[in-house]
Amino acid sequence: MKRSENKMTLGRAFRANNRAFKLIYNHYPQMVLSHLISVVWNALTPYIGIFLSALVIDELVGNRDVKQIQMLVVIALAAAAIIALGTAFLNKWKETQNAGWWLKIEHIVSEKMIDTDYVNLDDTHTAEMLSTIRQNFNGGGWGLGRVVAYYGELFSSVFTILGGLALTISLFVIKVPADKGTFTVFNNPFVVLGIILLMLAVTFVAPMLNNKADSYYAKHANSHNLGNRLCSFFGYLGYYGALATDVRMYRQDKICERYNNDKEDTFGSNGLFAHYARGPMGLYRAAGAAVSVIFTGLVYVFVCLKALAGAFGLGLVTQYVASIAKVSGGMSSLVSNIGLMCNNTPFLELTFEYLDIPNNMYQGSLTVEKRRDRKYKVEFRNVSFKYPGSDSYALRNVNMKFEIGKRLAVVGMNGSGKTTFIKLLCRLYDPTEGEILLNGIDIRKYNYREYMDIFSVVFQDFKLLSLKLGENVAGTIDYDKDLVIDCLKKAGFTDRFIKMKDGTETYLYKDYDYKNGVDVSGGEAQKIAIARALYKNAPFIILDEPTAALDPIAEAEIYEKFDGIAGDKTAIYISHRLSSCKFCDEIAVFHEGAVIQQGTHAELVSDESGKYYELWNAQAQYYVERS
Ligand code: ADP
Repeated sequence: MKRSENKMTLGRAFRANNRAFKLIYNHYPQMVLSHLISVVWNALTPYIGIFLSALVIDELVGNRDVKQIQMLVVIALAAAAIIALGTAFLNKWKETQNAGWWLKIEHIVSEKMIDTDYVNLDDTHTAEMLSTIRQNFNGGGWGLGRVVAYYGELFSSVFTILGGLALTISLFVIKVPADKGTFTVFNNPFVVLGIILLMLAVTFVAPMLNNKADSYYAKHANSHNLGNRLCSFFGYLGYYGALATDVRMYRQDKICERYNNDKEDTFGSNGLFAHYARGPMGLYRAAGAAVSVIFTGLVYVFVCLKALAGAFGLGLVTQYVASIAKVSGGMSSLVSNIGLMCNNTPFLELTFEYLDIPNNMYQGSLTVEKRRDRKYKVEFRNVSFKYPGSDSYALRNVNMKFEIGKRLAVVGMNGSGKTTFIKLLCRLYDPTEGEILLNGIDIRKYNYREYMDIFSVVFQDFKLLSLKLGENVAGTIDYDKDLVIDCLKKAGFTDRFIKMKDGTETYLYKDYDYKNGVDVSGGEAQKIAIARALYKNAPFIILDEPTAALDPIAEAEIYEKFDGIAGDKTAIYISHRLSSCKFCDEIAVFHEGAVIQQGTHAELVSDESGKYYELWNAQAQYYVERS
């Protein structure tokens, strides 16, 4: 984060904060408005009480007119009731609109993750930025999460200052009677100016000292994040399935305890923040508090001396003291708030750096023709591809035509480019060289969403959501229950399905519904993923090799079964196990990113000098059981 090392200026801080404010306002206008209107209301209404009490006190020590006092008390009570009502109404509005604000702010960042080009997710710098933004937010609340509160404080302090000044100005203007000897010094404009300047200076010093103390948190946000990361990882060691077994087996908790409870660590008693709290942070805070007390003392002395000299009565003493304290509080929070906005600026800038990552993939607008006959001709023409930041080709000069309604197998060793080939077909990446055509037109020219609609893929590393089974299969909240059940049946999930008492409404896993959610095995999850692909009913159906440690025979069975249910769709199967795919109409053999052989199983296996023959024989030992 180079920019954070540059000098912080008010212009820079306000540019970043204003942009963040607009961004949040555009997403959640009611949330922002309810917050701001509430704080302005809360800033101004106390003055009504201060003003009315001063009038009551003046009347009490002055004329003591009972009628007048009664009237003032009634007005004060009525005002208090209206204020309380307004406050309650605004609080309710604010709380309703601000419910889940943490998630709302998170949403602005996660929205980008969905909208960004898939290729951007591969970039390690993007991953690092995103993780830092999240840690800053979850750790110290830094970044977008603080902005609305800062603007609230800003408005609140400005209105507090204005309201307070309106009730305070007369303190400096009302003159001490000319016969009051030395007290008349308070009538000298230079003395008045000097007192105002002194008050202002003291008012600014206290929050600046506090800001200095706070800046240690911002400066050391990385250590704070590291502390949080250690805590959230080691704290759950014994709990998460994947970790819990090894922890018990190798007593890893002992090693981890050393990291988790280290006194020298970020939050330890000898750690960084404890060190600062005992040192400069503590000193700055104490000095800030001391200066505030001195300020209040000064105000009392000045106001009381003027009252003693006969400039005004007792009622105004309470009004002045209360409103000056408010003005000073307003100034303090204004200054400390601006300081906090400066501290938060580098965190916002990092968020914008992330949100501004451009989408460079060309977005075409051609409509993909809806064809009942599923006649979509897709062709790879001399396609080569390098992953961003990689020097070597993951695919080289691939030419391929998909025969409509046929079965194509893509085989090859791990790392030979099979998955990359599918990712290009689905336009998760664009080719580095060459082009992919749909019905003779470069796929980049089509509307991306419509183009994606012609593919159903069960990716190698597919994931299901911890939501209802039916929602998982359909990918929507409202789903066609019969169709879901039919797809699950075709995918071979019936045995497990009949044991689910909530049927398609059963929650998968425990994350959403801890009590009733059900766990499914890797193989069962795969069947659900296949049902999901079938439900989409796209013209192309693609099955990437199952990652779960299925034995070769089980894998072959899945593929053959799938062949039956793929019907008239164009199907593509990917595997590094040749036997799984030998029933296909055509087999393409990938090797080091290139298609080195293409043909039927019979043709390929008869070419004894070819790679297919070599791989077939190397793997033959696994398939004996089937023949
Ligand atoms: P297969 O599916 O045949 O196992 P892949 O298509 O996954 O092979 O990988 C082809 C090549 O591209 C491999 O050398 C792999 O290391 C590389 N590769 C895959 N994914 C990425 C990525 N995201 N970034 C950089 N290189 C990658």
